Amino acid sequence: KTFEELGVAPEIRRAIEEMGYESPMPVQEEVIPYLLDEVRDVIALAQTGTGKTAAFGLPLLQKVDVKKNVPQALILAPTRELCLQIAGDLADYSKYIDNLRVLPVYGGSSIDSQIKTLRRGVQVIVATPGRLIDLINRRTVDLENIKYVVLDEADEMLNMGFTESIDEILSKVPDTRSMLLFSATMPNEIAKITKKYMREPKDITI
Ligand code: AMP
Repeated sequence: KTFEELGVAPEIRRAIEEMGYESPMPVQEEVIPYLLDEVRDVIALAQTGTGKTAAFGLPLLQKVDVKKNVPQALILAPTRELCLQIAGDLADYSKYIDNLRVLPVYGGSSIDSQIKTLRRGVQVIVATPGRLIDLINRRTVDLENIKYVVLDEADEMLNMGFTESIDEILSKVPDTRSMLLFSATMPNEIAKITKKYMREPKDITI
């Protein structure tokens, strides 16, 4: 199948073609049409390198309403490196979508400049859990319009002790949000999270 057949919008196809993406990888073939139809809960057992960033990123970027200058998609990742990697990829995928802004939010960098950018308005936030909690506590981030939450490398986030932070963050986003969970392994703690937060998730194994 082609990205066009999966339903990916022309402006996104133009960007990914320039990046050398010729045809969808397996996880993208499964996830993209499913989410473009309607964003629903997904649990994907997928390793890094399988193309998972585009699998969740392309549909979310296509679903975000750029006329609304408020955060609508929230992606949580365990490390600053992954956070920057994802935000960079999403910025590349969306470079031909006018007014779509992606902000990486992570510890160890100036919180003031992140707050300034948040004030100017972004639709997509890619965050490490600790720094996001910090921003929530300072009341500088508005999660009321979040429709999509992605937990990337969920097993790593749990290993790093982010379970409570994730619980706290999820308690601040509307119940109506969809949740996508990507993980290389599926330990019991992941099953707990999925039971607690997901509704009839689609299971995908790559
Ligand atoms: P990820 O698993 O999201 O980290 O992606 C692994 C690598 O594959 C990254 O360098 C992506 O840019 C690249 N990639 C993702 N999807 C495609 C595709 N459909 N065709 C070619 N490369 C891709």
